[in-house]
Amino acid sequence: MKFGTKAIHAGQEPDPSTGAVMTPIYQTSTYAQKAPGDNQGYEYSRGTNPTRSALEGCLAALENAKFALAFSSGMGATDAVMKLLQPGDEVITGNDLYGGSYRIFTKIFANYGIKFHFLDLSDPEIVAQYTNENTKLVWVETPTNPTMQIVDIEAIGKITRANNLTFVVDNTFASPYLQNPIDLGADIVMHSVTKYIGGHSDLVMGALMLNDEELYKRLWFIYNACGATPGPMDSFLALRGIKTLHLRMKAHCENGKQVAEFLKTHPKVDKIYWPGFTDHPNHEVAKKQMRGFGGMISITLKDADLAETFRIASNFKVFTLAESLGGVESLLNHPATMTHGSIPKEVREKVGVVDSLLRLSVGVEDIEDLLEDLKNALA
Ligand SMILES: *Cc1c(COP(=O)(O)O)cnc(C)c1O
Repeated sequence: MKFGTKAIHAGQEPDPSTGAVMTPIYQTSTYAQKAPGDNQGYEYSRGTNPTRSALEGCLAALENAKFALAFSSGMGATDAVMKLLQPGDEVITGNDLYGGSYRIFTKIFANYGIKFHFLDLSDPEIVAQYTNENTKLVWVETPTNPTMQIVDIEAIGKITRANNLTFVVDNTFASPYLQNPIDLGADIVMHSVTKYIGGHSDLVMGALMLNDEELYKRLWFIYNACGATPGPMDSFLALRGIKTLHLRMKAHCENGKQVAEFLKTHPKVDKIYWPGFTDHPNHEVAKKQMRGFGGMISITLKDADLAETFRIASNFKVFTLAESLGGVESLLNHPATMTHGSIPKEVREKVGVVDSLLRLSVGVEDIEDLLEDLKNALA
């Protein structure tokens, strides 16, 4: 089945009891048993719920995976992956990460004796260089947040397979429409479903997709034991949002390209980060592993201190200044004080997250209105 058909149908059948075309919201915590243990596969909704099962079937299909687990947030999904590890284990990851990922690695899991290496993964060979007998997991984001670096998934997959490491890709920025890391050699795909997959800025949810049954069982145990699982109402909203994922992503890519081209020559813009430009340092890798370049764009402003950056950030009328991304509406974010505020200034500045950096999540409004808004705000 092709992507759009899977987005609309995978995991879902008309409800057998009524024929309802949309998956019902099974708003229940528990399920009747005929005799102890004699049930229809559902016991308690922390572990399993039919609305969530339908969603997980759909999520797995989107990433060409056998299994998916839905979590109550992207961070809940990340937390579950890290709980596969033991004290003394080492993790190799990127130096330009979602702020919350950096925070959970350094402020939570480092306290449990797990060691993290934050490296520039734009050259994949660095993974082999830092691998030792304690290395267990490689965590990659691509495109990275917010400087849109591209990491070669296939090249890193070869190294992780040769060294028996678990390879996880946070695929939130690309969405499954633009990139499928499992097809390129990843073991686990992580998503913040909050973003493109949900697509309407009306829920917080995360997901893991994978093929290995043994690993799935270990993760399901953590998911049920630790309990960061989403409720049926949010599962329903995610299923509803996914039905237009392919349509939205096409529109995000078209608008993203036009916004990127408009900003590239704008006199107020100093640097622009978007993998669709042929002069992006890893454009060829992006072209190889992605089916489009998406609607995420970051810029730095010319001669702008923090006050001037704040002034411009407050000028927008169609773009909304807010955290998050990937919804139908265009959003604008100031990483240094918002999404990446938990990263020390000297650490974030090294990878380009400077005070004058703005990140745009280009939505699916009419392009004329978006360009007009940018023109006025940057004037
Ligand atoms: C938002 C985000 C997360 C965290 O997901 P939540 O749903 O907010 O918990 C992780 N990675 C990336 C790239 C994100 O953008």
